[in-house]
Amino acid sequence: MLDIKPIVEAPGAEDYLCLFVGSEVVVSLRRSPEDIWMRHEAESIFGTQAVGEPMGYWCGRPCYALEVDQQQINAMEHTKGHLLTLFGRVSAAAFATYGRALQMLSWRRDHQFCGRCGSATEAADAGKALACGACGLTAYPRLHPCVIVAVGRGDELLLAEAAGGRTGFHSTLAGFIEPGETAEEAVIREVREEVGLTVSNVRYFQSQPWPFPSQLMLGFFADYVAGEITVEPSEIARAGWYRKGHEPRVPPPASIAGQLINHFYASH
Ligand SMILES: [Zn+2]
Repeated sequence: MLDIKPIVEAPGAEDYLCLFVGSEVVVSLRRSPEDIWMRHEAESIFGTQAVGEPMGYWCGRPCYALEVDQQQINAMEHTKGHLLTLFGRVSAAAFATYGRALQMLSWRRDHQFCGRCGSATEAADAGKALACGACGLTAYPRLHPCVIVAVGRGDELLLAEAAGGRTGFHSTLAGFIEPGETAEEAVIREVREEVGLTVSNVRYFQSQPWPFPSQLMLGFFADYVAGEITVEPSEIARAGWYRKGHEPRVPPPASIAGQLINHFYASH
């Protein structure tokens, strides 16, 4: 897995590099994307000389994120695509590493200029921050904490299909945490807003980074207390209570939604 800490050695030929063109990840067609590129490959294949954004250590060696030139992509040898295409195809650790790379590159691209005074920023704090020399503002990569919650009513689980039906899944409810709100309060508010139900006994499960663009999904369980399902149509197409074995199509087990669902049914 990725060990996030400052890189102490000089860039070397065997550093690992997560390569992107814009927001699309670049992988080799000749091997698994689990095998992250090395610097000597990036230099010889893609002609890049830039060091890249330091990310930490992958499998004990320095790891960087780097953008390469689209012109260097050879369709017979490499492919580029949305990072989600790797979800479930690579280990959770490798996916998190690619996700960190995508977020670091997006953050650098989107914070080239100070949001307060408009001057150019430069790397600070060993590459962990971007600082403005003119006004002193320091910007760290931004994360967006979200809650995702499995609501239980006895042995029934609340599952909902998002408005727009883009995924074809019924899933657990999720939403962004508002400024000034605890994660537990966000769970209670989101369930009330999206399906009109009152829940209590909010308990933390586990978390998952979700780099689209920069969410941290905080998983919870909660218990139904009162109310009839009344969906908010701008967010939810349909929702219902499902017993084990009768659930509709749900997200894959690699996702925190899938893990919440599996964990609920395994314990009821
Ligand atoms: Zn500034």
